[in-house]
Amino acid sequence: MMRRIAIVGAGQSGLQLGLSLLDTGYDVTIVTNRTADQIRQGKVMSSQCMFHTALQTERDVGLNFWEEQCPAVEGIGFTLVSPETGKPAFSWSARLERYAQSVDQRVKMPYWIEEFERRGGKLIIQDVGIDELEQLTTEYELVLLAAGKGEVVKQFVRDDERSTFDKPQRALALTYVTGMKPMSPYSRVTFNVIPGVGEYFCFPALTVTGPCEIMVFEGIPGGPMDCWQDAKTPEQHLQMSKDILNTYLPWEAERCENIEITDAGGYLAGRFPPSVRKPILTLPSGRQVFGMADALVVNDPITGQGSNNAAKCSKIYFDAILAHDTQSFTPEWMQQTFERYWSYAEKVVAWTNSLLVPPQPQMIDVLAAASQNQAIASTIANNFDDPRNFSPWWFDAEQAQHFIESKSCQKVA
Ligand SMILES: Cc1cc2nc3c(=O)[nH]c(=O)nc-3n(C[C@H](O)[C@H](O)[C@H](O)COP(=O)(O)OP(=O)(O)OC[C@H]3O[C@@H](n4cnc5c(N)ncnc54)[C@H](O)[C@@H]3O)c2cc1C
Repeated sequence: MMRRIAIVGAGQSGLQLGLSLLDTGYDVTIVTNRTADQIRQGKVMSSQCMFHTALQTERDVGLNFWEEQCPAVEGIGFTLVSPETGKPAFSWSARLERYAQSVDQRVKMPYWIEEFERRGGKLIIQDVGIDELEQLTTEYELVLLAAGKGEVVKQFVRDDERSTFDKPQRALALTYVTGMKPMSPYSRVTFNVIPGVGEYFCFPALTVTGPCEIMVFEGIPGGPMDCWQDAKTPEQHLQMSKDILNTYLPWEAERCENIEITDAGGYLAGRFPPSVRKPILTLPSGRQVFGMADALVVNDPITGQGSNNAAKCSKIYFDAILAHDTQSFTPEWMQQTFERYWSYAEKVVAWTNSLLVPPQPQMIDVLAAASQNQAIASTIANNFDDPRNFSPWWFDAEQAQHFIESKSCQKVA
């Protein structure tokens, strides 16, 4: 008997899990609220930069359709702006051992939806609420809610112990552009921190019109980079993006003299509170729905981890479903499966949250040391692929000094 599984939400986690299960012989239905064409023709949703390990989970199930066309992100650069002079206090950059990539979700998700149907999956377009979840739980052995930041995920109870914030920590904006001067000798995420104002980072990607660069703005709420409400059109949004760089980051502005917005949907502004929710929703009937990825653990994009987490969550859930064989999907199994994901995600959350509040002194020490020592720069850059490796030294003054000293003894070419 084929096991019947329903997934609500056709994003990174829902589609990756759905396609993986289909290939293994499961009967999978995805219920989502936007068609492939609506996504394709809509606005950008993310900057979705994914690092090697997460990309590998896609390759493993044959979903890396854009690997050749998508520009590689080959490194990470960091600049701290001095509040006194407005100039870089220090800068460094390092190559990633294996490249990162960002495929616009408007390119990836519609194609994955169509691929899901081609491979025999059932797709239903519907906006799911409690009534629809009740119906799904009568028809399927397991119902997963992978609805990202959709309203419906608020049905999961907030986990007060695991959540640090109850308000948005940044005013977010994206601008997808062409015509930016590339970084050399290798492409990279250029990450800039402007104390008291926010952060700006930028990297190459593949969008609906071809290769592009994605500009990501993280404005501290109420500060000068929390300004997007005045930009009503794509042109105004682009102009605002340029104005911010001209004011705070002239070395980035210098790369942007000829930029154009990629298309009418190539911009976004918004905000949300990073939070963690309890993984099981018990419906009025007493039946359960199991959450995944952003529906349960939603991070601020400052560290570019959400899609990476979603891919890794999908892999952990896939393995757990397979290992469960023919047994029923009990709340105990759901809790255990989530804890397996959380044992990874909690480290990502801790690191991400540490960058949303004024930094502890040892964090600045490590970042500054990276400008003097390439081994430290390389470690920080490559840890974006697995932020668990920031522990313990990122969070602890003594450990940070040990870490810096240990790297200073190493000879690096
Ligand atoms: C500004 C910004 C920049 C980002 N940059 C990065 C980055 O550089 N790197 C990175 O790794 N991550 C980044 N992220 C985060 C990343 O985009 C998300 O973490 C990731 O897409 C989450 O995947 P998901 O499967 O949980 O949800 P999503 O991909 O959001 O998918 C949710 C799906 O559920 C559907 N849905 C919602 N509500 C309902 C409903 N009621 N009924 C039916 N369907 C519903 C939606 O239509 C969608 O298909 C960024 C996010 C933002 C906002």
